[in-house]
Amino acid sequence: MNVTYLCPHCRGAINAGNNIILSAKTDMNKVGLILLHEEIGNYTSKISASLSITKGEVVDLFCPICHESLNIPSKDALAKYIRIDENCNECHIIISRRYGEKITFKVNEDKHIETYGEKISRFIDPEWFL
Ligand SMILES: [Zn+2]
Repeated sequence: MNVTYLCPHCRGAINAGNNIILSAKTDMNKVGLILLHEEIGNYTSKISASLSITKGEVVDLFCPICHESLNIPSKDALAKYIRIDENCNECHIIISRRYGEKITFKVNEDKHIETYGEKISRFIDPEWFL
């Protein structure tokens, strides 16, 4: 699979190998990198030794290239970045910033939404990000 993930601000590629690389900061001001698997619905992740996060904690996510925030403003602990698939189709990927919460939304250009991972009741209404 030849997929590229981009920062929505600088459009720099944020994936390498099989991982999406994000910069993270916790409420306790711990900082480090989070590596997410590039395959949608695969919740294998790795984190820097400098970053200790407890399950349920919400982290701020940033582009590792331009350091702009990937958080979705005023939404419930979500972050967003861009995915370009092997056919050059571009879509938005929305993930939870709550550590351990396994949810992903894929939103294409027609605002068609695909949901992956756990079904979490507070995200049943798709209006939250539109
Ligand atoms: Zn960027």
